[in-house]
Amino acid sequence: MARPSVCLLASLSALLLGIAAVSRSKGLRGTESQKELRIPSQFSQEQRIAMKEALKGAIQIPTVSFSPKELNTTALAEFGEYIRKVFPTVFHTSFIRHEVIGNYSHLFTVKGSDPSMQPYMLLAHIDVVPAPDRGWDVPPFSGLERDGFIYGRGTLDNKNSLMAILQALELLLIRSYIPRRSFFIALGHDEEVSGINGAQKISALLQARGVQLAFLVDEGSFILDGFFPSLKKPFAMVSVSEKGAINLMLQVNMTPGHSSAPPKETSIGILAAAVSRLEQTPMPNMFGGGPLRTALEQLADEFPFPTNIVLNNLWLFRPLVSRLMERNYITNSLVRTTTALTMFNAGVKVNVIPPVAEAIINFRIHPAQTVQEVLKLAKDIVADDRVHFHVLDAFDPLPVSPSDDQALGYQLLRQTIQSVFPEVNIVTPGTCIGNTDSRHYLNLTTSIYRFNPLYIQPQGFSSIHGINEKISVQAYETQVKFIFEFIQNGDTDMEPVSHQHEL
Ligand SMILES: [Zn+2]
Repeated sequence: MARPSVCLLASLSALLLGIAAVSRSKGLRGTESQKELRIPSQFSQEQRIAMKEALKGAIQIPTVSFSPKELNTTALAEFGEYIRKVFPTVFHTSFIRHEVIGNYSHLFTVKGSDPSMQPYMLLAHIDVVPAPDRGWDVPPFSGLERDGFIYGRGTLDNKNSLMAILQALELLLIRSYIPRRSFFIALGHDEEVSGINGAQKISALLQARGVQLAFLVDEGSFILDGFFPSLKKPFAMVSVSEKGAINLMLQVNMTPGHSSAPPKETSIGILAAAVSRLEQTPMPNMFGGGPLRTALEQLADEFPFPTNIVLNNLWLFRPLVSRLMERNYITNSLVRTTTALTMFNAGVKVNVIPPVAEAIINFRIHPAQTVQEVLKLAKDIVADDRVHFHVLDAFDPLPVSPSDDQALGYQLLRQTIQSVFPEVNIVTPGTCIGNTDSRHYLNLTTSIYRFNPLYIQPQGFSSIHGINEKISVQAYETQVKFIFEFIQNGDTDMEPVSHQHEL
């Protein structure tokens, strides 16, 4: 089963759902010697051209995942060769170990000079969703540059991250950088269709080696610009959790018969009524406490009158805001577990009463609910014993990662955002409404952050998994710069503190 919106909704995710935000951090301070050693994130004209050309080349390799069993393995193998060619220093540095996992995924272990510092991980994925030519201004795997933008499938999801990570490391290495803190780079090859052969295997391998991560950074959220027409300025959202999901198959079995003498009810009729009840009866609105409410309150002053007053007084306006959130399908997805009817199959012949009817429902679970709770509610709504429930796959919402002053990964992201995007004043935690490979790493860390250092507007957002996906050359350069600085910021003396209680 493809999960087509794996990253699609990830950023919007962000949009509102969030816990405590905006605390003005004291920031992280490096030692004096660290500051002296710091390599400035300025690149020559030649390097800037090379970096955008490298991204274009990556886009041209059609590493498409069609389904868990149907991947373009030729392209995945070619991609492995390609990164060896464009990032030679990464592959020929004595303190970097490179391994291929699950045939096509890549794991880099970058050994820092101080083994007492806990390592972290940067995550990205090689595969992309399919992109039929129709509707695109330029062919989706051309990597063509037009009006300052590089076009193509994967320019936002997620070859930009992948290439920027390796590019930043390459540029650091050729300037003789040696990290103090070790880190891993994990590049999965099947994120769009499960991550079972990539991320999951990497995670198992590192667990067997006894690795515990200080934190992990993956894609999944952005600097959100223009998602609320009335919000004055863009703000950065770092996702600290993800919604859960269930793929549920409903099945009705009946004795087949001839259509000339039909029974009062058929499998199709019974199942259609059941799925219709599910669609007409949304899961409960969970707006009220917790993350989303706090995030809205934190952003309140950024809105003009009267929205600012409403959001600053949720004790009074909560029912109103809760209902308003339901009106738009995106904000609706933030306040409840969503119910999407995605497949319906029945019938074999025009004159035969079908023996079987099947439908698949995709639920995305709100962080305040569990798989079991949602299944129970669904059974109560269907309320028909003739409809059988088969859970195809399911997982609970992910635990919330810490975002307080002591949270190393979160604070490093905040510090780097403030340095690379000085115009962005607000950094707020959020929850992904899509899913990423990061959920396979819960065994290695309690601190998982999803953030792509890019501005995104609603139009760009819908191009992810859609048409005309593109990134501006300047935005890509900034992403490289961000990672170039982030890796150096990672050498801070600050160490993670245990956040067990948050879970
Ligand atoms: Zn992705």
